[in-house]
Amino acid sequence: MPAIEIEHLNKRYGATEAVRDVSFAVEPAEIFGILGPNGAGKTTTVECVAALRTPDSGSIRVLGRDPRDRALRALVGVQLQESGLQDKLTVQEALELYAACYREPADWRALAAGLGLTDRLGTRYAKLSGGQKQRLSIALALIGDPRLVILDELSTGLDPRGRRDVWALVAGLRERGVTVLLVTHLTEEAARLCDRVAVFDRGEIVALDTPAALAAGH
Ligand code: ADP
Ligand code: ADP
Repeated sequence: MPAIEIEHLNKRYGATEAVRDVSFAVEPAEIFGILGPNGAGKTTTVECVAALRTPDSGSIRVLGRDPRDRALRALVGVQLQESGLQDKLTVQEALELYAACYREPADWRALAAGLGLTDRLGTRYAKLSGGQKQRLSIALALIGDPRLVILDELSTGLDPRGRRDVWALVAGLRERGVTVLLVTHLTEEAARLCDRVAVFDRGEIVALDTPAALAAGH
């Protein structure tokens, strides 16, 4: 059974066809990239997988279930571009709050340390830099120790060192057999991290292959 199976997904916003007849399957423990320029329909696709949007048509199965199935909350971690965190929460409070939502949470202190957040535990969300907010949103996606992680533009706002940190984190997920659906507009990021990549353009998949095969085809 694929970890994610999408068949003939369509989603429009008014006159905009954001996603058109998109189909792909992500295998368990695979790191699957969605690569493409701004406006290609990447975020809309993963928002449908995360049940944050309702497809106009097509079908999506996540770990064999309907994306809206409540049982998925304990199995799927999601990092999106807007966190929706309260400005007044400190990093530690946010980590503890999220950890409390799970029966067997990951060790939030270790996660914070791995993401270079240890010296920011007492800092309120509003006072974090863009890169620090990004690190926190990744930590929160991982705090439930999920089997499947959705990461939307994980290196946004990070400097080269921060980028290396989060890339190492994804490599660690690979070693633990976690399935990752990773959205990026950076070819280098997709090539380094992903087993296979779906290239999106104007709402459609225009290529789907390993990074090496995609690079050889150009
Ligand atoms: P990407 O993540 O690849 O940048 P998106 O899925 O965000 O692409 O957007 C795909 C298309 O849908 C774009 O043309 C975008 O402007 C449009 N779009 C995205 N979200 C909305 C929305 N909430 N309302 C109207 N149009 C939207
Ligand atoms: P931003 O540029 O948004 O402030 P950075 O990625 O630069 O975010 O990280 C903020 C600070 O944290 C930087 O000064 C960087 O040197 C430091 N930093 C980055 N990664 C680590 C880490 N793994 N451990 C400790 N400190 C780190």
